[in-house]
Amino acid sequence: MSVRAVIALGGNLGDRQATLDDAVRLLGASDGVTIVALSSYRETVAVRVDGPDIEAPRYLNAIAIIDTALEPAQLHAHLQRIETELGRERHERWGDRTLDLDLIDFDGREFSTPTLTVPHPRAHERLFVLDPWLEIDPQATIPGVGSVANARKVLS
Ligand code: ADP
Ligand code: MG
Repeated sequence: MSVRAVIALGGNLGDRQATLDDAVRLLGASDGVTIVALSSYRETVAVRVDGPDIEAPRYLNAIAIIDTALEPAQLHAHLQRIETELGRERHERWGDRTLDLDLIDFDGREFSTPTLTVPHPRAHERLFVLDPWLEIDPQATIPGVGSVANARKVLS
């Protein structure tokens, strides 16, 4: 049995388009994962812990909707393997990175473990998540938040 999940992709170092292309390819080639929809790639200003940083290299972001037979923890571990395979170096939180793969929504469920919180707790306040998500699913909702379209309005 498979369920629907939403993945945010982003990167602001190296050949960003090639990295996102590779990430989508690896994700789609994974056992138990089928890509249902992929947004356009959008260039966005880097967001640091203390806010937007126009000096930092810009991000390229996208959203992928997948069908998956994996459990959330398996999917998250798989996303981290793809990050590592594509050369992600981890420095500071929210720092520059080749590739960041976040699990935004998993089958409309709400849960938290020490390593995984779903839905992603900051998804509703990030334009670089909401805009590409709306592009491929205008009716999308975030458990505990409501419609993505409304969350988007609050930010503008
Ligand atoms: P960030 O994405 O916040 O810039 P990282 O990608 O380094 O930072 O992730 C920080 C931690 O966030 C990871 O160790 C991961 O276990 C945790 N995490 C919790 N919930 C999620 C989620 N929904 N998607 C991705 N990572 C998550
Ligand atoms: Mg991350």
